[in-house]
This record gives sequence, C-alpha cells and structure tokens, in this order.
Amino acid sequence: MIISKPFLKVEQIQQRVKELAGRISRDYEGKEILAVGILKGAFMFFADIVRTIQVPMTIDFLIVSSYAKTESTGEIIIRSDLKEDIKGRDIILIEDIVDTGYTLSHLREMLLARQPASLKICAFLDKRPRRKVEVPLDYIGFEIPDEYIVGYGLDYENRFRNLPYIAIFKESV
Ligand code: 5GP
Repeated sequence: MIISKPFLKVEQIQQRVKELAGRISRDYEGKEILAVGILKGAFMFFADIVRTIQVPMTIDFLIVSSYAKTESTGEIIIRSDLKEDIKGRDIILIEDIVDTGYTLSHLREMLLARQPASLKICAFLDKRPRRKVEVPLDYIGFEIPDEYIVGYGLDYENRFRNLPYIAIFKESV
C-alpha cells in the first residue's frame, strides 16, 4: 500500500514562490537573466517562478540523471545540454530539491567553466540533513526533513509529478 500525506499546500507554495520571485526581481533589477531549469523535477516550480519574476529573461533547460549505482560518488549524466551560450551572462539555476548536493555541485562546476558573468542557484526544497557536499544556495523555498517527497514536479518512479502540492511519500506492505 502507498501512503501519501500532504506536507506543503498549494497556497503555501504559491506564497513562497511569490516571495522568492520578489527577491530575485529586486536582486537583478536592470539586468537580464538566463533562467536554467533542471528537468524533469523542476518543471512546475520553474514555470511558476519564471512567470512571477519581473526582470527580462531568456530560458533554457538541462536534462540530467544520476547513475543509479554510484550514489557514493554522485556521478551524474547530462542527457541534454543547454542550447544557449552562457559566457558573460547572468545565470540562475532552478532546481527542485537539493539532497546530497552532488547534482548541483557537478552542474555548478560545469557551468562555471563556461564563464558566465554570474551564477546563482534557486532551489525549491532543501533537504539539508542529507547533504554530502556543500553547494551554495542563493534562494531556497523550504528546508525540509529527511523524507521522500513527491508532487509539484517531483516523482516516485515518474509518477505523482502532476500533484499541485508536496506530499511525503511512504511505501508500506
Ligand atoms: P542530489 O544530487 O542533491 O543528491 O539529488 C538531487 C536529485 O535527487 C533531485 O533533483 C531529485 O531528482 C532527487 N531527489 C532527492 N530527494 C528527493 C525526494 O525526496 N523526492 C524526489 N522525488 N526526488 C528526490
């Protein structure tokens, strides 16, 4: 049996997205952003936040996945790279959840090597107790405990991504 209970409601999410978008809009006043969404998980958060940010922008996406058997090293695979040249541009990476930190730390190194003018990270959820490598997070939606989360873009075996809220996922027999 699968048990899933609500953790962050739609209204809470909307309120927090508004606050983050407000901060980003103030921080980037007079600039143009290249917002980079990390797929698939960030698709819903990305869509919500980019339409609330009041600064000119272009958008692009990265599709990444992790090697299932190498959690200890956190090696990740780039399934689809950016189409934009990021050199000299102001980048905001938009991610769904930071767990061990391996994914973002890898992507950060990779993108910094392409010499953007700046690179900031906006993560919807921060599962801080699970962190294995430090990665600087500039904008955080919510800090959450060590639970498996689904909904609002996040999946379990590619399901539940369409839920408009965040739920804690438990599987029991
Ligand atoms: P990290 O590299 O920081 O360990 O992991 C980041 C990725 O792991 C996220 O982008 C997400 O795909 C996945 N992940 C980590 N924790 C959770 C979780 O609680 N629920 C879901 N659905 N995915 C998670």
